[in-house]
Amino acid sequence: MNKPGRKFGHLVSKETRRKIGLATLGRKVALKTKKKMSQIAKQKDFRKRLPIMYGDNHPNWKGGITPIYTKIKNTIEYKEWRRTVFIKDNYTCQICGERGGILQADHKKSQSIFPELRCHINNGRTLCVPCHYFVTWGKEIGDSQWGRRKSSLAIR
Ligand SMILES: [Zn+2]
Repeated sequence: MNKPGRKFGHLVSKETRRKIGLATLGRKVALKTKKKMSQIAKQKDFRKRLPIMYGDNHPNWKGGITPIYTKIKNTIEYKEWRRTVFIKDNYTCQICGERGGILQADHKKSQSIFPELRCHINNGRTLCVPCHYFVTWGKEIGDSQWGRRKSSLAIR
């Protein structure tokens, strides 16, 4: 598939080539710039040295922490687990009793410590976001945080 603005394997007609040639004629590149360009191009592994903006070269790279949780949360197994937990608890927060709010499925036993319990239905309980935050971090969720989360979270 061709990227927009690029034509791979595209034959340029003689007429077009003539036009391009004419257009380029008037362009003057300073000698200094030309020298610099050729020097850089001659450097060994010039192409390999081009910055690649992904992975640990990317300024936002956090060392690969996100993919694991994203991967888990995207599995059918996990989604099914979460749905079953909600149904089991009748979409009601198991701490404050709020029903039908923005709910999350909480692992009673941490899934990072007990990975084998990740999809055990008895290891799951339904919590609303503030309660989930409280049991996870041991403090109340801040109003500003909660407001932001409210708008970005929805039951899926
Ligand atoms: Zn709650």
